[in-house]
Amino acid sequence: MHPLNVVGGRDHLAIPGPSVIPDRVLRAMHRAAPNIYEGELVDVTLSTLTGLQEIAHTKAEIAVYHGNGHAGWEACLCNLLSAGDEILVVVTGRFGAAWADMAQSLGIRVQLLENQGPTPADIDQLTRCLRDDVDRRIKAVLTVQTDTATSTCNDIKTMGAALRACEHPALLIVDAIASFACEPMYIDEWGVDMLITASQKGLMTPPGIALLFVGKRCWALHKEASLNTPYWDIEPRLRPSMFPERFCGTPPTHHLYGLREAVSMLLEEGIENVWRRHEALARLVWRTVDAWSVNSDLCCNVSTEEHRSLAVTTIRTASGDAPRIRQWCEEKLGVVLGVGLGGGISEPPQDNLFRIGHMGHLNPAMLFGTLACVDTALKALEVPHGPHALSIATQELSEAL
Ligand SMILES: *Cc1c(COP(=O)(O)O)cnc(C)c1O
Repeated sequence: MHPLNVVGGRDHLAIPGPSVIPDRVLRAMHRAAPNIYEGELVDVTLSTLTGLQEIAHTKAEIAVYHGNGHAGWEACLCNLLSAGDEILVVVTGRFGAAWADMAQSLGIRVQLLENQGPTPADIDQLTRCLRDDVDRRIKAVLTVQTDTATSTCNDIKTMGAALRACEHPALLIVDAIASFACEPMYIDEWGVDMLITASQKGLMTPPGIALLFVGKRCWALHKEASLNTPYWDIEPRLRPSMFPERFCGTPPTHHLYGLREAVSMLLEEGIENVWRRHEALARLVWRTVDAWSVNSDLCCNVSTEEHRSLAVTTIRTASGDAPRIRQWCEEKLGVVLGVGLGGGISEPPQDNLFRIGHMGHLNPAMLFGTLACVDTALKALEVPHGPHALSIATQELSEAL
């Protein structure tokens, strides 16, 4: 007899991006190539941009790039800065650190504000850095809303308030690649000057589009930015004389159809409800992991609930257990979990971390599927864990509803 195989149906990708692509988005992309100069694609694009502004509560203009999140990072730096400029980068995990490295390699002088543990930025420390900068040399404060490695979430609203309280002119620039359409975001009200996101996480569309929300205050720095190049330049992208100039050439046609459908889905659900759904689903993960953690090595990487991301949860295990759990879930149960990318700032990728993505097109059936599969793996692999985790999570959801 062969060993029992229970994998049928759809495999489930539970990594923190790319996220699950809705059938509606896939269907919208399954079509003939459109004209790229006029007609439907122009309307599709412009209505998508209006929808994105609504989702982020902003009047900021949006530059669109064929690219991933890293392209968004580089577009942001090149449009605003010159070699020798000083910036402050708030680092709460590997993604913030990588963005700072990119800036440094472009010749930008980077001051880091780092925490050792997986906790959000310390606002008092940020305020001190800004106050100490008496000559106002810091041109921009860069921060990641959800750092996808540690799964910490920064308080962007309070950071914006801190900048204003210090009367520091630095721009506030936010990487919301993991958090956009998952965590609350009010670009204008919170004083975010530039926000970067990408298509493949909360926006539920295949990887390939980076978006730059450009606030009014960006233009003064843009004028002087010597790192700017014709391809990255936001000016023709936002002030095109012909539609394709928005993309410095051929638009990412099918991605635009997909993204328009995803934006429609978010607006139909209502963005506040999308955020509340993410919070309710994140709580199911937290309840489950917190229950597993009783008398065991398992735990959420971020200990305080208010500091946890609504889009991804990094889970600690005993050394060596995380890869075994991931492999077993993938081979035996058809669910793919995220690899560990470091649970603290200076921690390298390790074998004691795995991640569950809970961003985008997700419902309790899908999420409980993932959590129940991990629970099954813990039992099969005899990884010690606290009891009744799923029952505690279902109780939580039944009460929330
Ligand atoms: C995914 C991610 C990135 C990088 O995006 P790529 O599309 O992989 O280039 C950057 N920042 C954060 C917070 C992310 O989650």
